Amino acid sequence: MAARRPLIAGNWKMFGRRASLGELSQLWAAVADAAAGIDVLICPPAPYIQNAAWAARETGLLIGAQDCSPAADDAARTGEVSAAMLKDAGARYVIVGHSERRALHGEGNALVRQKADAALAAGLTPIICVGETQAERAAGRVAEIVGVQVRESAPADPRIVIAYEPVWAIGGTATPTIPEIAEVHALIRENLRASLSGEANGVRILYGGSVGPKNAAEVFSAEGVDGALVGRASLKAADFSAIILGHPAART
Ligand code: PEP
Repeated sequence: MAARRPLIAGNWKMFGRRASLGELSQLWAAVADAAAGIDVLICPPAPYIQNAAWAARETGLLIGAQDCSPAADDAARTGEVSAAMLKDAGARYVIVGHSERRALHGEGNALVRQKADAALAAGLTPIICVGETQAERAAGRVAEIVGVQVRESAPADPRIVIAYEPVWAIGGTATPTIPEIAEVHALIRENLRASLSGEANGVRILYGGSVGPKNAAEVFSAEGVDGALVGRASLKAADFSAIILGHPAART
């Protein structure tokens, strides 16, 4: 089986303005030589996707979205944006089921699954987020919670990407240990095997949660980690490029 191509994705969340897109050219200038073997993705806020795609047109940077409608076809859904529209605007990927959407908008596994299906139908790659809360980890329920999220949120399609993002590690400083990250990545792949059999080996599984320039190389060394989903540290080209350059594939 061919090696999985690393993916390092930046989630800008609801930060930045049009001027922030200037970071893209700085980012590419810093990583262009090293990133030939890595997919580098930026997911700006929805209104900036088209401008971001334009700004990235002569670079190898990929542009993605942070969410999409579960409806595959055009529909009377005020305020929603379909995966097809995101693709039309220049997105190649879309994050679905981020813990902030699960918590703030009550999104459950069934809805996340519909969004991932809509993304695939439109030709976008869904990055499906899963991860336990602090209380669930303390109760020894990581395998149960993450297993159910993977089985219920992820379509049986080898093009998907999974992001393991422990809720308690997002936006802070704490992260799981390297063996803990490796353990959850292995259990995610095991759960993918239930629906994908051998094709599960081709699915990329990212780690997300307080990845920064200081710990990126260590995180990338964890068994089964195919890249990262990065929040805060993706906003500035200097930080995000340092993360990318910390990947072993950037050194070869
Ligand atoms: C995220 O929100 O997906 C994330 C990983 O955030 P941070 O890197 O800021 O912890």
